[in-house]
Amino acid sequence: MSENQDFDLIIIGAGSGGVRLARMSAQMGARVAVVESRYLGGTCVNVGCVPKKLFVYGAHVRDDLEDAEGYGWRIPNEDVTFDWPTLVANKNAEIERLNGIYGRMLENAGVTIIEGTASIRDPHTVAVGDQTYRTKHITVATGSWPVIPEIPGKECLLSSNEMFYLPQLPRHAVVWGGGYIAVEFAGILAGLGVETTLLYRGDLFLRGFDEDIRRFTEQEIRKKGIDLRFNVTIDSVEPDNAHYRVNLSDGSCLETGLVMAATGRRALVDGLGLEELGVELTGSGHVVVDDHFQTAVPSISALGDVIGTPQLTPVALAQAMVLSRRLFGDGQGDMDYSAIPTAVFCQPNIGTVGLTEQEAREAGHSLRIYRSEFRPMKYTLSGRDERCLMKLVVDDQTDKVLGAHMVGPDAGEITQGLAVAIKAGATKAQFDSTIGIHPTSAEEFVTMRQPVA
Ligand code: NDP
Repeated sequence: MSENQDFDLIIIGAGSGGVRLARMSAQMGARVAVVESRYLGGTCVNVGCVPKKLFVYGAHVRDDLEDAEGYGWRIPNEDVTFDWPTLVANKNAEIERLNGIYGRMLENAGVTIIEGTASIRDPHTVAVGDQTYRTKHITVATGSWPVIPEIPGKECLLSSNEMFYLPQLPRHAVVWGGGYIAVEFAGILAGLGVETTLLYRGDLFLRGFDEDIRRFTEQEIRKKGIDLRFNVTIDSVEPDNAHYRVNLSDGSCLETGLVMAATGRRALVDGLGLEELGVELTGSGHVVVDDHFQTAVPSISALGDVIGTPQLTPVALAQAMVLSRRLFGDGQGDMDYSAIPTAVFCQPNIGTVGLTEQEAREAGHSLRIYRSEFRPMKYTLSGRDERCLMKLVVDDQTDKVLGAHMVGPDAGEITQGLAVAIKAGATKAQFDSTIGIHPTSAEEFVTMRQPVA
């Protein structure tokens, strides 16, 4: 093995968190290298947020075409076709463009990109292939990877990784799981014309979201023609000619062309050699870090999906800002995990920030609940039977808005602004004194006057 140049920081993983940490640290004068074995930009850019959102846009075109008629457009149904390979090719071109931007961003910041799989030899040495690199600090930013339960026929199942590169769409698909990825992909498949069945093991999907939001989303998703089945899971899958036979826990079976498992993600730490060095892992395999992202080995830190905090790109970006300042800056600033807004890009979308009604009650707040349900104006002329739900969770004593939740078009866009208000500690009275933007759905958040509970 040849000994190579020294760095101040070697980051393992060029995903959202790793790239941000590299750029910020390099800008502060550190000599930085990033080791990446797959693709620049990580899950978010390559097999996550970005291509998913592009597919969601593609799937929504179906609704837009149907709605056009109410606005006077004549679109002969027989002339409307959808070509999956075109969508995938265009998506791939966009991802390649983004990969290039990430590469140039790192190079322009003076960061060395090392292609290959890293292992940590000792607290200051990283090996990649037959090279070793000495460094003052090491950050593990390797992210997460889909988990498929150990069932007979597991090899027949696809994860979200493969869904982005399917050569063709099946006539029918089964989606297994009830979290973000399951509901988002069920919406994409159904929107693109695939008959879709979603199987979830519990009573109601989207565990952890506000109960009203979960029930309302169920109702709206059913209207889209998705076959939602709860309290059922997959026992086994068997190939059957070009199809699959899916055997369910209730004794029934389904014939389908595709089975997607969206059953969670695990921390990606394989082959890094962390435990041998004394870096502690949790029971679920996440890297244990303190509030400053330091592991049990002082020179090794970790951030992003691999540490088990909310698996969201903006969380990893914020962690990277804090860690870069700790390693090479003034050391100021802590990560604040309160009121993290999030959106689920199912159809219609969910947007949420702050406490759910259930969390607020469990925390001992006495509450006022405001709730508004209506048909968005856009669907009046088109006649679409899609409704929107907005909900505010307010502390009765302090009048503080503890949570804002929504199901409806552009919920993610609307929730971002609400997150600023909630983060700033806005009261319901301040929401009420805010002038609405008319006519929008969003104005409903500042015009809900009567509590429903
Ligand atoms: P989630 O943890 O959100 O959901 C996993 C789902 O699979 C749950 O419904 C879970 O059920 C179910 N499940 C887990 N194990 C089994 C099993 N053995 N058998 C049957 N069902 C099982 O994971 P996802 O993979 O959907 O997403 C991972 C994370 O990625 C999300 O939590 C989110 O942080 C992030 N993400 C964010 C997006 C966004 O911001 N829009 C989009 C996509 C992902 P149960 O609820 O009963 O445990």
